[in-house]
Amino acid sequence: SAIVHWFREQDIRLQDNAALSAASSKAKDASVPLLTIFVFSPLDMEWHGLSPAKIDFILESLKLLQSELEELHIPLVPLTANRRVDKGKMVMDFIKKHKVSHVFANFEYEVDELRRDLDLYKRLKSEETSFELFHDQTVMEPGTLTSGSGAPMKVFTPYHKAWLQKVGRQPELLNVYDDPAANDKDVSTKYKDLFGQKFPEAPKSKQFQSESERKSIRQLWPAGHQAAMKRLDHFLGKKVETYKANRSTPAADNSSRLSAYFSAGVLSVRQALSAARKANDDQNFETSGNSGIYSWARELVFREFYRHMLIIKPHNAMNLPSNLKFDFVQWEDDEEGWKKWCKGKTGMPFIDAGMRQLNTESYMHNRLRMNTASYLRTNLLIDYRKGERYFAEHLIDWDLANNTNGWEPSYTVFNPVVQAEKCDPDGEYIRKWVPELNNVQGKAVFDPYHRLSKQEFEKLDYPAPHVDFKESRQRCLQRYKSDMADA
Ligand code: FAD
Repeated sequence: SAIVHWFREQDIRLQDNAALSAASSKAKDASVPLLTIFVFSPLDMEWHGLSPAKIDFILESLKLLQSELEELHIPLVPLTANRRVDKGKMVMDFIKKHKVSHVFANFEYEVDELRRDLDLYKRLKSEETSFELFHDQTVMEPGTLTSGSGAPMKVFTPYHKAWLQKVGRQPELLNVYDDPAANDKDVSTKYKDLFGQKFPEAPKSKQFQSESERKSIRQLWPAGHQAAMKRLDHFLGKKVETYKANRSTPAADNSSRLSAYFSAGVLSVRQALSAARKANDDQNFETSGNSGIYSWARELVFREFYRHMLIIKPHNAMNLPSNLKFDFVQWEDDEEGWKKWCKGKTGMPFIDAGMRQLNTESYMHNRLRMNTASYLRTNLLIDYRKGERYFAEHLIDWDLANNTNGWEPSYTVFNPVVQAEKCDPDGEYIRKWVPELNNVQGKAVFDPYHRLSKQEFEKLDYPAPHVDFKESRQRCLQRYKSDMADA
């Protein structure tokens, strides 16, 4: 018999992996081999709209993981299930074939994934195989922080406070799990066929458009745990000091750029936060310590909070807004506005810069994500779900909980000119991504259509704004109010 760890798309690492570590202990206790699998489903990837960058990142990280595991005589076997519903069957077949007594995996909190695991749990039970799931994606188990009434917390500020207090009282929550122990050497011969199996290619529709695109994305986002650790060390050593002051200044590029690694679980949040705690002289993440570290940890608590909210509002994973009233809004069918937004040609420099960064780097700075999302769902009044999907199709760090919560509609309408003046005061970020505006001097770069003469503007080869800011803001607020009144 054997023990299996099933890697999913959110725990692609050997280090500090709750379920993998438990599977290894179980295998050692029972003196049986540990085998690992990953179920690849091309149609599932298309269904979720994953970007070529993210799929490539996952596949490359899996290949590196496979060779790390093979050094420990542990195979990582790629299984291919064409449709997502076939994933469970592929696992069942593998389990029967190799007489597996226990299956270990980490929780995925999205509704379909939870249903799949529940179904598999029942099927495995009838085969007398146990199936154990672990909480691994967060430090704080989602759903556990409750308010005075005993209900799960629903507001970030008190959640953050409670999170800090709990981790302060129980620093062991940041302890990392042991790496898996090596299998006996003879596993490599006994299970020879399971070693060195090739991972499939990305589905055709999800491949990079060109080799040079692939190269530049790989350079920006090198795959694998070691690359993540290097980035974490660099961030904590060189960048975190100025993080608080600069986190909303996109030209400073002062954030960690670790999101791709967290979302695919190539780096665990526990490991990152325990390294941050060490860098903070082992102090807790309270304001008394390094303010950059406090402020960075707060962002990771946001990530924890959004996973917590997914448990409380599972419809968030089903294409519905948290606030269901927004589902009643009649959105505009503005094909031209949509195309301009996607290409970064709306005539609003800050918005266009953000979209062009996304289209080039498969990544966008947080401040720009906030602004481009607001512009689509309020000024253009286009269904925010189209934008959500576009982000999924282009981001290397797409993460369902973070993305849906980031896109959650609200009455807030960002003014992209005011935002740019505040967050990009020298227009450096705009000029980097919108080279048509390279030679525009001073504050005109934030709103060239209104701040240059007609003649000067026409020379730029840059579009006039697709919508007037004030009018579109008014239109949005009225529409939200009237449509939601009927809800
Ligand atoms: P850092 O500033 O270094 O932060 C460290 C980590 O904290 C990030 O890697 C991320 O895991 C987490 N984090 C940071 N900001 C947030 C936040 N606002 N909400 C939740 N977690 C956060 N993040 C994703 O990981 N995937 C997404 O698909 C995604 N979509 C978004 C869509 C919109 C509309 C908005 C407004 C935000 C979205 N975010 C998403 C959150 C945030 O923009 C990114 O996590 C961040 O820009 C990644 O850069 P970084 O790793 O340098 O972040």
